[in-house]
Amino acid sequence: MTPAVETGRRVLVAGGAGFIGSHLCDALLLRGDDVTVVDNLCTGRRANIDHLVANDRFRFVELDVVDTEAVNEAHGRLGRFDVVCNLASPASPEAFATLALEILAVGSIGTRNLLEIAERDGARFVMASTSEVYGDPLVHPQPESYLGNVSSIGPRSCYDESKRFAEAITMAMHRTRGVDVGIVRIFNTYGPRMDPGDGRVVTNFVGQALAGEPITLYGSGSRTRSFCFISDQIAGLLAMIDAHIVGPVNIGNPHEVTMRELAETIVRLAGSSSEIIVSALPPEREGDPERRCPDIALAGAELGWAPSVGLEEGLEFVIDHFRTHEGLQP
Ligand code: NAD
Ligand code: UDP
Repeated sequence: MTPAVETGRRVLVAGGAGFIGSHLCDALLLRGDDVTVVDNLCTGRRANIDHLVANDRFRFVELDVVDTEAVNEAHGRLGRFDVVCNLASPASPEAFATLALEILAVGSIGTRNLLEIAERDGARFVMASTSEVYGDPLVHPQPESYLGNVSSIGPRSCYDESKRFAEAITMAMHRTRGVDVGIVRIFNTYGPRMDPGDGRVVTNFVGQALAGEPITLYGSGSRTRSFCFISDQIAGLLAMIDAHIVGPVNIGNPHEVTMRELAETIVRLAGSSSEIIVSALPPEREGDPERRCPDIALAGAELGWAPSVGLEEGLEFVIDHFRTHEGLQP
């Protein structure tokens, strides 16, 4: 068994080779924690954690958290954890068409396997849930008390119901077995290390603007989202790791914009000549929520958290990152 480090806590980050998970690893290591990533790399990238492998407080184990036997074998080898963070799940709407069964498996079996590690170790378990649990909301902004407007059969249902199940089993393990849990409902987050091919709106629009290609605005462009910069999201996750509350707590930026406004802003900030082309909503996006905006009063009251990075500031950072790291030029 690996002895617990004296400098900080031993944290297991499932999905740590992904966009948000890799930034969480950076922040945990920076404050002195010991970090183990388990990830099957189905949507994550080794490049996101390459800079961490030389750190002796970091280790990476390629592992599918759905494989109960392999998870338990790895846990025996890796030793006990103080914190288990579950960020493992494909998250892009493009993946809903190709990885539906994997998404349902990781939200259910994967979440249970990780909760059982937390139970065995007496660790705090932090569940990365999503604004998608509200479905296509009819209440704006969405407080945690809103129960949602969710389809159990549409193309998005694999993800929405997977995360709703993950919340339910997290609460059941808390109520019946006393596991220390915290649920975070993450709203649209953007920043460096997003996968340029993930099909999400910020990556598509920035990639298209830098390549001088048409910007693909689905529907009329009047749908809204509220975008949280990655550093703010990580501050919220760290606050939830350190807190003693169950939640769920929304973590997102309440600045709501239409997708047309987003497209125009990205074209302007990138100095691009791309045209904005309105096209039909792709079939896998049926049920695309019309509006989404977090009510973050609870995060302020319970975690003392609020976002601080404005949309233009964050987008400039992302455009610059894509120019220098993803090889895209205007
Ligand atoms: P991501 O795809 O970059 O990261 C998810 C990681 O989980 C990937 O590295 C992937 O390989 C890994 N993974 C998936 N299935 C796995 C399995 N069975 N076993 C082990 N690893 C597995 O996505 P992200 O944007 O970084 O999202 C991270 C988490 O936050 C996800 O749980 C997602 O649902 C949630 N979330 C993200 C957003 C957002 O805007 N990015 C919004 C709401 C919720
Ligand atoms: N969208 C768009 N063009 C694109 C990609 C996405 O207009 O090239 C829209 C999409 O229909 C949705 C919004 O942008 O209304 C956000 O999509 P994203 O995939 O980023 O995340 P979602 O919030 O839907 O999970």
